[in-house]
Amino acid sequence: MNMQPFIGISGCLTGSAVRFDGGHKRAAFVMDRLGRWVSFRPICPEMAMGLPVPRPALRLVQTTAGDIHMRFSHAPHEDVTGKMADFCEGYLSGLGELSGFIVCAKSPSCGMERVRLYDEKGNPGRKEGVGVFTAALMEKYPWLPVEEDGRLHDPVLRENFVERVFALHELNTLRKNGLTRRVMLDFHSRYKLQLLAHHQAGYREIGPFVASLHEWEDLEAFFDLYRDKLMAILKKPALRKNHTNVLMHIQGYFRKQLTTRQRGELRETILNYHAGLLPILAPMTLLKHYLAEYPDGYLSMQNYFDPYPPGLALRLAVN
Ligand code: SF4
Repeated sequence: MNMQPFIGISGCLTGSAVRFDGGHKRAAFVMDRLGRWVSFRPICPEMAMGLPVPRPALRLVQTTAGDIHMRFSHAPHEDVTGKMADFCEGYLSGLGELSGFIVCAKSPSCGMERVRLYDEKGNPGRKEGVGVFTAALMEKYPWLPVEEDGRLHDPVLRENFVERVFALHELNTLRKNGLTRRVMLDFHSRYKLQLLAHHQAGYREIGPFVASLHEWEDLEAFFDLYRDKLMAILKKPALRKNHTNVLMHIQGYFRKQLTTRQRGELRETILNYHAGLLPILAPMTLLKHYLAEYPDGYLSMQNYFDPYPPGLALRLAVN
């Protein structure tokens, strides 16, 4: 992979003063850390559909028929639903190969979940809405990693998002360079342990699908389906239990080379990780050390060891 992944982002999260009140919501982790490894494509949907800064606040209104509309808080008769839909249609069809999108929480345009809904009389209802822009984004690109700024404070969600971004970037790069059966099979081989760590049932389901690759004449069609399946598996958080299984599985590769003491130490490190006493970095570092000492072709190519740039240092947290 040479170029950095392109990531869409709500403009206000970059520090641009595009919010209705003339402010911003700069996301420190995203801009200061992740920003060193990705290229951002900022967009403020409300400004892009022609609204100024400052502007009256918008809200999501659920009609008695159940439809969701976007209206100004101070002037409920002024409906901008159609305007936003027109903007989304044009913008999303020209989006190009993004590898992820970070959206601003709670916004009637950009929120990914739990956006407040109002009734037609202006009474606040439940937080069950999705921002109009983000809803359209997720509908058009269901495989795209989309995450909110606030949720990225959670170490597990943060790592999961970053991992998916770099996996999709690699897939996008494969397609850009020209698909062949060989590159698709090599890609899948490298992702096996990573998939196992995320979802064992998904891992077992995608294997036979990949094995049917020789029956596919249309590689683009295969790629589309494979991307959907792979991204759905990676979306499931890699839990401690699954990581432990994978780490134990890797440990088995060194059974013959390690002394009884080394095997015991490795096993104890993995079990301490399983018990929440150590970060995954501990057994991972030990396994990498043994892998350098006793190289194995299959293990060495596994993306599981470094699914994103190690400089992001996301594995320092106990997860
Ligand atoms: Fe613009 Fe979205 Fe930020 Fe609102 S949340 S200011 S629409 S980028």
